[in-house]
Amino acid sequence: MHRGLGAAASLIVGGSLLVVAAAGTALAQVGRSTGQDASSARPATSVPAPGSAGETQRVAATGTRIEGDGERTRFRLELTRPVVAQIFVLGAPYRVVVDVPDLEFKLPASAGRSGHGLVSAFRYGLFAAGKSRLVIDVTAPVLIENATFVPAHHGIPAHLAFDLVRIDAAKFAALKQSGQQREGTLERPQPRATPPAPKRASARPVIVIDPGHGGPDPGAVAGPDLAEKNVVLAVARQLKAILAASRRYDVHLTRNEDVFVSLEERLRLSRQYGADLFISLHVDALAESDAARSVRGATIYTLSERASDETARRLAEKENASDLLAGLEAQPAAGEDDVRSILVDLIRRETANFSTQFRNLLTDRLKGRVALSREPHRSAAFKVLKQSETPCVLLELGYMSNAEDQARLRTPEWQRQVAQAVALAIDAYFAERLAGNQR
Ligand SMILES: [Zn+2]
Repeated sequence: MHRGLGAAASLIVGGSLLVVAAAGTALAQVGRSTGQDASSARPATSVPAPGSAGETQRVAATGTRIEGDGERTRFRLELTRPVVAQIFVLGAPYRVVVDVPDLEFKLPASAGRSGHGLVSAFRYGLFAAGKSRLVIDVTAPVLIENATFVPAHHGIPAHLAFDLVRIDAAKFAALKQSGQQREGTLERPQPRATPPAPKRASARPVIVIDPGHGGPDPGAVAGPDLAEKNVVLAVARQLKAILAASRRYDVHLTRNEDVFVSLEERLRLSRQYGADLFISLHVDALAESDAARSVRGATIYTLSERASDETARRLAEKENASDLLAGLEAQPAAGEDDVRSILVDLIRRETANFSTQFRNLLTDRLKGRVALSREPHRSAAFKVLKQSETPCVLLELGYMSNAEDQARLRTPEWQRQVAQAVALAIDAYFAERLAGNQR
């Protein structure tokens, strides 16, 4: 092997680029992960990455470096040990996805918020069990070259590196056609193993709480350390604890860690659990402007074919883009027709009426406890609300773009207060439903 290049080989597998660490190191890794004795594996001639002493430790990503210009940009991800990485490109919008085994991300909080050269931003996080993902937004169609794993040398930490090279849209399409740099992977994250719902084992109503975003999709962000995905998970956990303590409901979360869950999977979980009520939790943020800073408070959204207003339409567009942000293929735009047929269904099933009933109760219980926005009732075509059997709402807890909201969103006391108000609304809703049934 050549020096330098000897550290890694890259090959094209199934249209994506696979970067394999130096033979010795890679074998040692395989040996460890399968529990075999790796001592026979010839150690890599190059200096092993720092951290290899603590062999049981997770590999950590410790930094990134982006260099170059709008024609060729080199991306480096610094790692404590070599990993096998799969790199591929996606179109509509143009993105580069890097899949690696589960990493511990020790990157600065601001990492990826802005870019350089062809990179406009990037996100990262747990994509599925045992798999982390980096999603790099690029400003133009690109192809990937010179993907290698470079061991630590001369004070430069070990890193995975690759070049993004600008090409035109026609070439991107041609490469995709030829399969040489085929557009992405069609693989969607496997449904996570969920225990079969103890459906109707008890007569208790089933509540599914859906904390939005997760993993490589942080949702709205503010400052160096506040992300929507963490705020909504905290509120969801508080709400679950309150509801579970009442022993009146079976309560499920669509995610209980910082992991990506596709919108499709959230809907599937709602069906699988046999949800009687589905509550999706989010936080909004408006783009920087004087007006944006003054808009605050909670808003409750229900499903509609046509958005109630422009703000609602734009918000639905943003929330519906969650899968794209996490590096999934754009889905064929079934969009509006889909909503229309579900709406017909909803009318028949009265699900929409129940959603509205719950929305009204929720507004009432939030009032006085949590600041409401000026128009707290809005509607739009949110994918996660396309449920024909289950009454559902999407609750935007407030605005990251507002200083007062931002300060509250991060405190556990405020999070508990919101959770308590939602729990009161749930109690009222099922009391009314029960009374209705007995009439
Ligand atoms: Zn959201």
